Amino acid sequence: MTVEGVSDPEGAGAATSPCPSCGLEHVVPVEHVVVGREARSELGRFLDERGLRRVLVVEDANTAEVLGDDLSADLAAAGHAVSTRRFAQRAGLLADEEAVGAVRDAIASRRPDVVLAVGSGVLTDVTRYATFLHAKPFVSVPTAPSMDGYASTVAAMQFDGVKITLPSHAPLAIFADTGVLAAAPREMILSGFGDLAGKASARFDWELAAGVAREPYCEAVAERVAVPLERCLEDTAGLLGGDEDRVASLTGGLVESGLAMAMVGNSRPASGCEHHASHFLDLLAFRGLRAHASHGLQVAYATRFALAIQRLALAHLGDPLLQPAGGGGGEDERRWFGEQYLALGPVHDEKQVWFAEHADAWPGTSGHLAEVHERLARSSARFERVGTALGAAGVPATTGFLGTDGAMLRATFRYANRIRSRFTVLDLLECQRHIEPVLDAVIPGDS
Ligand SMILES: [Zn+2]
Ligand SMILES: [Zn+2]
Repeated sequence: MTVEGVSDPEGAGAATSPCPSCGLEHVVPVEHVVVGREARSELGRFLDERGLRRVLVVEDANTAEVLGDDLSADLAAAGHAVSTRRFAQRAGLLADEEAVGAVRDAIASRRPDVVLAVGSGVLTDVTRYATFLHAKPFVSVPTAPSMDGYASTVAAMQFDGVKITLPSHAPLAIFADTGVLAAAPREMILSGFGDLAGKASARFDWELAAGVAREPYCEAVAERVAVPLERCLEDTAGLLGGDEDRVASLTGGLVESGLAMAMVGNSRPASGCEHHASHFLDLLAFRGLRAHASHGLQVAYATRFALAIQRLALAHLGDPLLQPAGGGGGEDERRWFGEQYLALGPVHDEKQVWFAEHADAWPGTSGHLAEVHERLARSSARFERVGTALGAAGVPATTGFLGTDGAMLRATFRYANRIRSRFTVLDLLECQRHIEPVLDAVIPGDS
């Protein structure tokens, strides 16, 4: 399939007409997306049409085997000048200075017209950032449906050992061969499904922020992510077993998530408190308190609790908002954040500004509250199916998964709102002074 709305060759980077749903002008950053068996042949045609003859393929030992070698041979046979930059690693390649430098060296010496990123998260981000620095177009050729960053305009890097997100550019196009993607390890498909499942709680948080703080919200953009999620929920066992149609839906959903973020200019369509919780789990891993796990798996686990928390929040949605705590140096909070604690100041300040601007206006008129409640209730109608699907996939709603215990999970949802300034259900509950009882109900103890 060609993903709808992104196949207009002239459309990239150009403002579309005002969105009928929200009135804003959404910019779609990727010119062309193909998800299907035909992706490989379409890629060759695309490069021909653009006159992109000199091609640099960035791959690693694994992705060369599953796709890169064949792709290079196809392109060479079709008359392209193909060179490769193959990382020897089979696992553990980092999106760090060294990897970016290696791709930059290859670009400088081989002077390609275009660079192909044949791989998943790390290879794509390394290629994204290196090509960005050379103002060189790149094309994403995913090898696993494991995360939603393919269409992203930012690069998730790890410089000086610290995870950072840097301004970068979106791929010129994405060609996702579903034959290759469906053969990816189950773990990677589960990771991608977890990332997509998290869009259920992200949507709730987005709608909540729109209701409480009148943040811009676009139903049409939200639906671009929700529709493929629904398709994956229909047959999660098939998806995880590598059913090609379901994997195509998942891949489409992950690509759409990236496009959706670019279309609204922020991460709301794809990231809510479940992602903040995953960032908190990253922090715990960084501090040596638990082992690292994949982003998607962490999001999957956090989503199970996020959905339960959001469901309970609906019960007293209209309660007034009181001054948020945090930033004041609570003993428990300091303990969890360790040395990172001082870095929380700016987020705390932004939350205080947010509070000053919006708290008084909530809940507003009874009509407004009813409208917000109805919208959130409609969104939460899929929560049970999302939870059931995650449970069936082996992601439990109990402690002990991914190296957590009850205290860690509780801290995760108590303090995840300290690391991002974006308002979520956790801020709502904290300001309403409901957070502790809700966590009592949702996070199981260790006993
Ligand atoms: Zn819109
Ligand atoms: Zn994610």
